[in-house]
Amino acid sequence: MAEPANVTSPLSNASTVAIIGAGLSGLACAHRLAQHGVNVQLFDKARGPGGRMSSKQRPTATLDLGAQTFTVRDARFAHKVAEWQAAGCVAMWPVHRYQASASGWQIHDDGQVRYCGAPRMSAITRHLADTLSTFHHASISLETHIAALDKITQGWQLKDTNGEQYGPFDHVVISAPPPQAKALLAGWEPTLSAACEARPQRGCWAAWAIFDSPFPTLSGVDTDWQSLHTQHPALRLVSRNHTKPGRESQPESLSLLAQLDWSDAHIELAPEDAAQQLLDAFTSLMPEQTPLPGLVDLGAHRWRYAQPAIAGSQSFLYSESGLSLCGDSFRGSRVEDAWLSGDGLGEALLGRSVY
Ligand SMILES: Cc1cc2nc3c(=O)[nH]c(=O)nc-3n(C[C@H](O)[C@H](O)[C@H](O)COP(=O)(O)OP(=O)(O)OC[C@H]3O[C@@H](n4cnc5c(N)ncnc54)[C@H](O)[C@@H]3O)c2cc1C
Repeated sequence: MAEPANVTSPLSNASTVAIIGAGLSGLACAHRLAQHGVNVQLFDKARGPGGRMSSKQRPTATLDLGAQTFTVRDARFAHKVAEWQAAGCVAMWPVHRYQASASGWQIHDDGQVRYCGAPRMSAITRHLADTLSTFHHASISLETHIAALDKITQGWQLKDTNGEQYGPFDHVVISAPPPQAKALLAGWEPTLSAACEARPQRGCWAAWAIFDSPFPTLSGVDTDWQSLHTQHPALRLVSRNHTKPGRESQPESLSLLAQLDWSDAHIELAPEDAAQQLLDAFTSLMPEQTPLPGLVDLGAHRWRYAQPAIAGSQSFLYSESGLSLCGDSFRGSRVEDAWLSGDGLGEALLGRSVY
């Protein structure tokens, strides 16, 4: 296993690469490689790209159930976000943040600029997938759950859960969260496998609640409040999806993200129970016990691998056998980390300057 400075055979436009996972890191890596002519095939087990930046489509509303917002610190990522803003798939949000404490709700301004996907978080990864498909040497296979890797004389072969085979490929990038990556690496690359094991993940419940009418004015709170941070033992963050850019016409629709400790302790709950408990937590925080409007839709999604328990510092990992790992966990736990990890791995595999 080596850090990227040790890449001895950079990929060229004659190379073929399989990327497992079409979340932000996999898409960022695919873009970097495809821009330099490398033949890239992405695989994702889900119906659409996005991974933990995906959004849930309900009959009356679209809700972000993974990342709600993201921040920008790195200059390269800032440049990319400016591109996405120009393309119309990113906007600043939220600007009216609150926090709930024992003494009620207070405006919460930490000075950080935050962004979200517009008109939904998954618009960013959709934009990346769409622009990737304009390269004739790049493709994405969705609803394709890769179950195993096999090394043959001509390179790496992939097999999905239906027994379908893909390849051979010169190189395989795995961008799935480390426990899922580890399952694929089994037997092939013990050092990469150990790196995955060193990145245990924490779970997170994310519920949605859609109402038949807008919330009443809450005592001492601006009517256009957009997000609420809480110290409640179960509930961490509430986002009002209908206040996000491009979703103004949808009804009152909340994402309710659980605390990580609570999620880990309740990860095997039935989704309807998790959803009810998170909604009850929010109700208990309403100023002056203001009643909520009529509930029309309530549910929850369980993220078994929401974020790393221990943040990495390597960004991505590479092995001379033709296997690499990228994803947020190898450098942090945020959207920005995912993009930097995938883009950085792409640069490294091309033998270019590395960050
Ligand atoms: C509830 C929640 C809240 C969050 N909030 C924030 C936030 O406020 N700000 C922030 O910056 N970040 C936040 N994050 C983190 C952010 O979403 C992630 O950092 C980022 O989306 C990770 O991208 P990734 O590409 O590394 O991984 P993922 O998005 O997990 O992508 C991995 C992909 O691999 C696919 N896959 C896995 N195994 C296989 C297989 N065997 N075959 C085929 N496909 C496979 C998966 O379907 C998935 O699409 C949050 C995450 C969660 C879950």
